[in-house]
Amino acid sequence: EKPIVAIVGRPNVGKSTLFNKLIGERRAIIADEAGTTRDRQYGETIWNGRVFTIVDTAGLLVGDDDPNLPLAEIVRRTHQQAQLAIDEADVIVFMVDVREGLIAADEEVAALLRRSSKPVVLGVNKADTEDRRQNAVEFYNLGLGDPIALSAYHGTGSGDLLDEIVRNL
Ligand code: GDP
Ligand code: MG
Repeated sequence: EKPIVAIVGRPNVGKSTLFNKLIGERRAIIADEAGTTRDRQYGETIWNGRVFTIVDTAGLLVGDDDPNLPLAEIVRRTHQQAQLAIDEADVIVFMVDVREGLIAADEEVAALLRRSSKPVVLGVNKADTEDRRQNAVEFYNLGLGDPIALSAYHGTGSGDLLDEIVRNL
């Protein structure tokens, strides 16, 4: 069985962008697995010779990834996604957005992840510029280890993130 890596985080932080970058043309090798929730996307990727399944925890319901939901609802649903990831994944990638900075919703999910026994890799996305990469240090305060600055959009930093994922498999 291949290890499972789940990407969790609030809507709009760039989870699906990273997922698509990582699976590339290997998209949807694993489709319609029995017992999996419909809106979650599974793909396969390989890094440093390690093959693993990556999960984009899109949302349980249509509209779950809508960033315009009320904040309390976003927190509730992100929490739910994180719990699913804790239950099924071998490594969790917790993704945050450096442009928004550290917000209360991230703290809540981080608290749940800290209580789990699963390894968590902290990806600080949208670090498209040197300034924003510097700002990623703020996320040390989540207590989830070294923040890894990346730009899922441009691909920079994703190698560092993958190194850290594979180290924890
Ligand atoms: P999700 O809701 O977490 O799955 O987020 P998406 O992957 O749908 O991305 C939300 C928005 O952020 C989209 O407009 C993306 O193009 C944008 N985005 C994703 N990654 C980056 C990044 O590294 N830099 C910037 N500037 N925008 C990004
Ligand atoms: Mg998405």
